[in-house]
Amino acid sequence: MPTDLKKVAKEKGIRFFLISFTDLFGVTRSKLVPAAAIADAQADGAGFAGFAAHLDMSPADTDMFGLPDADYMIQLPWKPEVAWVPSDLFLGPDSVGHCPRTVLKKVLADGKDNGYSVLTGVECEFFLLNPDGTAVADEFDTRPKPCYDQQAVMRRYDFIAELSDHMETLGWGPYQNDHEDANGQFEQNWGPADALTTADRHVFYKYMVKTLAEQHGLRATFMPKPLPGLTGNGTHCHVSVWSKDGKTNLMKGDSQLGLSDLALNLAGGLLQNAAEMTLILNPIHNSYKRINAPRTTSGATWAPNTVTWSGNNRTHMIRVPADNRIECRLPDGAANPYLLQAAIAGAGLHGIMNKTDPGKRYDIDMYAEGHTVKDAPKLPLNMVDAMHLFEGSRTVPEFLGQELCDAYLKLKRIEWADFMHHFSDWERRNGLDV
Ligand SMILES: [Mg+2]
Repeated sequence: MPTDLKKVAKEKGIRFFLISFTDLFGVTRSKLVPAAAIADAQADGAGFAGFAAHLDMSPADTDMFGLPDADYMIQLPWKPEVAWVPSDLFLGPDSVGHCPRTVLKKVLADGKDNGYSVLTGVECEFFLLNPDGTAVADEFDTRPKPCYDQQAVMRRYDFIAELSDHMETLGWGPYQNDHEDANGQFEQNWGPADALTTADRHVFYKYMVKTLAEQHGLRATFMPKPLPGLTGNGTHCHVSVWSKDGKTNLMKGDSQLGLSDLALNLAGGLLQNAAEMTLILNPIHNSYKRINAPRTTSGATWAPNTVTWSGNNRTHMIRVPADNRIECRLPDGAANPYLLQAAIAGAGLHGIMNKTDPGKRYDIDMYAEGHTVKDAPKLPLNMVDAMHLFEGSRTVPEFLGQELCDAYLKLKRIEWADFMHHFSDWERRNGLDV
């Protein structure tokens, strides 16, 4: 029996529930339902007009319903009278096949059918900017190499400590906080969980960071490259595959770097599909200013520019930090949390099922010596190239589903057309006197 939300409301003093879904572009949308009405909302779902969100629907479609997944409820630590509940989308009796959370559930269920479960963790880098989002909020944070700067992180102690305490309250197991490699950039780390839990926490974390930042008079952003010349916001994802019951880590073995053949095939699946699913992991025009970027003021972008792998080496797309997991460094702060997990788990499991070879391991500094690697596939240079690669993929629809791929591409094309008809200062400067 799923959690009875009406009962929980009484026990925990909850006044309102945020019945929430995340659309294709990663926007979190909710209905605020009073506790007195939650029994009906739990049984029948909260109603939404699908076309009003970034979903492949028309204004003429019937109401869409978000059915709360009550077991994944998160009570707001800073406002315990409100609880956030992720929901899965339905049109009448039918599940919406391109609902990102539904897509992830399907990928994970397919994995279980084949005997595997997937454990992941995300590193959600973000900037603290001034309220209008144009500059780093801390005017003293100007060091050229600002990573781990004690003085700068402690100037944000109140904000960072509050977030860390909230994660402790929620049982996420936070274990470190730091100033990252760009001025104004921070990261907090918490423990891994099954990929669906991680995706829900990722959505909630972004909401929590933005909300608390606003309360502190700041603007938090996960934008991939919010400021030119500085390191961008990655969302590195650590992934390991376990037995179906989640009890045995299957990553360790006597192949390369202490990894099993299965772990190498997991990396192989990610590498093989990387360029074709870049549109999911790096979804917006600005994403392509983070990957393939020139050197930043700190000395490195920390983002990949080729589809390569290595050991404990941060200049490649896949890093192997230990023998119990691998890290995919491609995703950025704009990636939809559910589609990020669906793409990584799906591609990785596809690699395992097809025994995909990860290819040659390069133990070199890709930023300095990348030109010596002649046969490594490149990542797309912009969103339109990423769209073409995504559209032409044979394997990505096999694990994400054709419905998701069609809907996502359709909406991305509309977004690209909008961008193309936006006039910038750059084109005026370069075009006015032709
Ligand atoms: Mg980081």
